Amino acid sequence: MSRVLIIGAGGVASVVVKKCAMLPEYFSEIHLASRTLSKCEKLQQEAGKDRVVGVYQVDADHANQVADLIRKVQPDLVINVALPYQDLPIMDACLETGVHYLDTANYEPKDVAKFEYSWQWAYHDRFKEKGIMALLGAGFDPGVTNVFTAYAAKHYFDEIHYLDIVDCNGGDHGQAFATNFNPEINIREITQRGRYWENGEWHETDPISVRKDLDYPGVGVRASYLLFHEELESLVKHFPTLKRARFWMTFGEQYLTHLRVLENVGMTSIEPIEFQGQKIVPLEFLKAVLPNPGSLAEGYTGMTCIGTYVTGIKDGVEKTIFIYNNCDHAACYEEVGAQAVSYTTGVPAMIAASMMLQGHWLKPGVWNMEQFDPDEFMNRLNKYGLPWQVVETESPFKR
Ligand code: NDP
Repeated sequence: MSRVLIIGAGGVASVVVKKCAMLPEYFSEIHLASRTLSKCEKLQQEAGKDRVVGVYQVDADHANQVADLIRKVQPDLVINVALPYQDLPIMDACLETGVHYLDTANYEPKDVAKFEYSWQWAYHDRFKEKGIMALLGAGFDPGVTNVFTAYAAKHYFDEIHYLDIVDCNGGDHGQAFATNFNPEINIREITQRGRYWENGEWHETDPISVRKDLDYPGVGVRASYLLFHEELESLVKHFPTLKRARFWMTFGEQYLTHLRVLENVGMTSIEPIEFQGQKIVPLEFLKAVLPNPGSLAEGYTGMTCIGTYVTGIKDGVEKTIFIYNNCDHAACYEEVGAQAVSYTTGVPAMIAASMMLQGHWLKPGVWNMEQFDPDEFMNRLNKYGLPWQVVETESPFKR
């Protein structure tokens, strides 16, 4: 018997709910809660009422509401696929009620566009004392990219030195401008200054100013830009032999032109402004007019390719491997009615939840994905829709 409470009913949640519903051997009872009840009801309809047995309205900004719901549902695990703003209240509720916790993105305060693990790592001792576990960043990146790194370190190297995580969406959704996951969170992330780790310290770059053209298997050559991404913070902590760690994401010219215009006219700002007698946040308004990422799924074509280049030493010899997954937007739509960005986030969250519930990864405290043995998780990626490849290769990155 394993009962899960999933919080959030957006693009990623729709994949988590449907994939969990397909696996009664791991998830015998599924409950779903979010801010808008009708979205939970729609998902329940799609996944089957016999599998999603309860739906609830909750405002997860308030720990007391989440704690009341947990007491009612009595889950073994809470899967948080709402927004990063809700991470701490949901963790507080899990602490209060003694229930395990999992999320896919690290905490971010609503009024400062800044994300880092310090807030959530600070819960470690309290979770440990309570005998419960929190697993952080269990999507694809962060998530699978952390596990790919751990797998490379375990099986291919004596010591790892250089890490480049690459994230390419080679798909086409036919819209002039849209984001593939929550627009507010996505735009906050990519308009920040870039940051990477080298020789024991962080170095900053102007936003989207460092470009490299990379050849992605299954996609081809794409312009890729250096960004700060949250898994870099945990990976350099847990693999202290890393001399350099960076993250790259592809953007098309059309996307960047739209983004530049929106930034220049102030539409990506999170500073509230006065508008017709009320305060509005321009970025929240922009989110309201942009396409809902879930709605992009129908007719989306092409592939994603996300992976990690790892360079290190094995038996005294330096080598590089690339571990990656290709995911096809149309195949995801066919399977669960989602696009590949939601799918590549939701499937790892489901797998990580199954790893916790079955005791493969279960240890009181607050943990990142690379802190556990990667092998069974890697097996389950192959089994549940995200097959991966490893190639030994020349590194495309200069030193
Ligand atoms: P969506 O905006 O599609 O969905 C978010 C859901 O959370 C919505 O259903 C929303 O409700 C709900 N929600 C928002 N605020 C609250 C609240 N206060 N209380 C309860 N529910 C709330 O986002 P996505 O599905 O695209 O993304 C979900 C998460 O996944 C995000 O944290 C995102 O950063 C993360 N992510 C992680 C990735 C990874 O690889 N690790 C990649 C992509 C995303 P409503 O419908 O009412 O708005």
